[in-house]
Amino acid sequence: MPAVLPHIGIAGAGLAGRLLAWRLLRAGCRVTLFDAHARGDRSSAGPTAAAMLSPTAELAVADSGIHALGMASLELWPQWLQQLHAQGGREVYFRREGTLVVAHAADRGSLDHYAALLRARLPNTGDGVLLEALDEVRIGALEPLLAGRFASGLYLPQEGQLANDQLYAALQTVLDAGLAAVGGAWHENCAIVSVEPRALRDAHGGCHRFDLAVDCRGVGARAELPGLHGVRGEVMTVSAPAVSLRRPVRLIHPRYAIYVAPRPGGQFIVGATELDSEDAGAPTLRSTLELGSALYSLHAEFGEARVQRLAASLRPALPDRQPVAGPDAEGVWRINGLFRHGYLIAPALVQRAAGAIAEALELRDAA
Ligand SMILES: Cc1cc2nc3c(=O)[nH]c(=O)nc-3n(C[C@H](O)[C@H](O)[C@H](O)COP(=O)(O)OP(=O)(O)OC[C@H]3O[C@@H](n4cnc5c(N)ncnc54)[C@H](O)[C@@H]3O)c2cc1C
Repeated sequence: MPAVLPHIGIAGAGLAGRLLAWRLLRAGCRVTLFDAHARGDRSSAGPTAAAMLSPTAELAVADSGIHALGMASLELWPQWLQQLHAQGGREVYFRREGTLVVAHAADRGSLDHYAALLRARLPNTGDGVLLEALDEVRIGALEPLLAGRFASGLYLPQEGQLANDQLYAALQTVLDAGLAAVGGAWHENCAIVSVEPRALRDAHGGCHRFDLAVDCRGVGARAELPGLHGVRGEVMTVSAPAVSLRRPVRLIHPRYAIYVAPRPGGQFIVGATELDSEDAGAPTLRSTLELGSALYSLHAEFGEARVQRLAASLRPALPDRQPVAGPDAEGVWRINGLFRHGYLIAPALVQRAAGAIAEALELRDAA
């Protein structure tokens, strides 16, 4: 380990930036974070997401590489959440009780098509059972709320979900303490306009020099990462303490794919639309109706749910829908293109990037 701590600058304190900063602090680096927004801002993708960890369900729109990163991350999340808690962060709600997939009788064809797609893409990895067909009785046994409502469905037993608001809060607590201990900093409301291999330039003309700089700005890196674009998603948060679901439920429909993810305290996140649009404005009436109708059609008891939040944000996507985590041809380090899989794949990607950074700086431990 070098006598003087290597100093890493990170542009973007979202999901990737916070996780990377934490892992690099644990590896013995000094870290300085910059974000265009304040810590509590909820406009970017990270705080808007449903944070489902669905490697198998996502095979409908992703490849085996994303699946493998997702399975690896599902193992890392509980370890990382335990480490965060041990460092003083709050406990983060994390469950791994699978995902249920159902469709109304009229949409049975879409469910069959979805099941065939997943089966064709399922990797043969020895990860145990990844997909089971369910009949009405098994659906009711897994989720009593849905007993008698759906004749068939699918169970994806390896999947999970976490509460991203709690994760952000835990990371914030641990980062504040960790940054202070090594003379690092978290600069809020400080937009970075240019990322170089060893420097970050801010919107006020300031140039901040480091041993290594990393771009984690999500869609905020558009101007410097060719092809990067936003994919709009809208979600609704409701409170329905009288209704109980143990695990996320995906409702297959010919025109949209909507899910309901339970959260602590009787909350449910209903999401998410997917529109190729750079518009990050408030949710539209059409999307709100789709999300609300899907929830109500799952069970009429949701009719009394209180709508707590309607939010829209942009998922950072590259044209091939693949993430990047490492240096590009010009030597600029980036973690980006996490698209709709940020929570699913971030631990494995961040671990890979932190390991490569440690190697580049000849650190002993990539944590
Ligand atoms: C509606 C919706 C639902 C989703 N559901 C899921 C899900 O269920 N499961 C899942 O795995 N993923 C989901 N995602 C995807 C996930 O949220 C993203 O993949 C992830 O947040 C991307 O992380 P990131 O750190 O790259 O970007 P972000 O989380 O967007 O963070 C980028 C950070 O950079 C900052 N920034 C931007 N510009 C600048 C600048 N110029 N200078 C400094 N800082 C800047 C922003 O303020 C922000 O803090 C969902 C996304 C959306 C929108």
